[in-house]
Amino acid sequence: MAIMIGSSIVILTGAGISAESGINTFRDNNGLWENHRIEDVATPTAWIDNPELVWKFYQTRRKQLLEVKPNQAHIALSKLEEGVNEFTLITQNVDDLHERGGSSNVIHMHGRLRTLRCEVSQKHEERMEEDDLGDDFLFCTCCTEPNRLRPDIVWFGEMPMHLEEIYEAVEKCDFFIVIGSSGHVYPAAGLVNVARSCSAKTILINFESPANAFAFDEIHLGKAGEVLPDLVNSWLNE
Ligand code: NAD
Repeated sequence: MAIMIGSSIVILTGAGISAESGINTFRDNNGLWENHRIEDVATPTAWIDNPELVWKFYQTRRKQLLEVKPNQAHIALSKLEEGVNEFTLITQNVDDLHERGGSSNVIHMHGRLRTLRCEVSQKHEERMEEDDLGDDFLFCTCCTEPNRLRPDIVWFGEMPMHLEEIYEAVEKCDFFIVIGSSGHVYPAAGLVNVARSCSAKTILINFESPANAFAFDEIHLGKAGEVLPDLVNSWLNE
């Protein structure tokens, strides 16, 4: 499909784009995320019932950021951004590999690992120094009496971030391109339907056919790091 350089392009990425960097996707092992049930580590109830377990789980994910690198798919997206006029990158990922791959203005709809959020003021702060990556809880710098920080992550049952900005971009785009997402987690999985209803062309790059495959005009099955660089080159040279 030809992508015109003057078109408006919206990208939605999921855990699959970071898989080749060594970060496990969500549905790797029978619905378990890094050997944990989602209910035990990624819900507000889990944080209330067992904050130590949740904290350690996310501290491990945060420390992992220091060991992983962006892959060819992240880099290809930064090249696409440079080559077109209107570009919006929305990610469900909480890692920082898009930014480190050269993308700017990444919209993290499910939060970020690099930042932590004050439980009282809800302000977030970047906390990635060595002292910030241990097993002990951390406290905010925004309140007079420092309060406990929680992972700056949108857990299941919580409202995704930046939805207004996301819907505005999706409703006016010409091309909506999804990379590495299983199509199970809503509302992200429903954005392709919004794009279609606004007459955008929809393209998917994923390792396997996802739950919402029917909603795409064009599907490329394979690893994002192998498929995407050639696709981006072909789009930019058409
Ligand atoms: P998911 O784990 O549900 O699905 C990932 C999809 O990527 C699968 O369909 C899989 O077939 C595909 N995939 C695997 N390897 C691939 C590759 N090399 N190239 C292309 N596709 C590949 O992920 P999701 O749809 O993003 O939903 C999971 C939720 O878990 C998200 O909300 C996300 O915030 C969170 N999560 C984030 C990270 C991260 O930040 N890297 C990692 C795990 C989970």
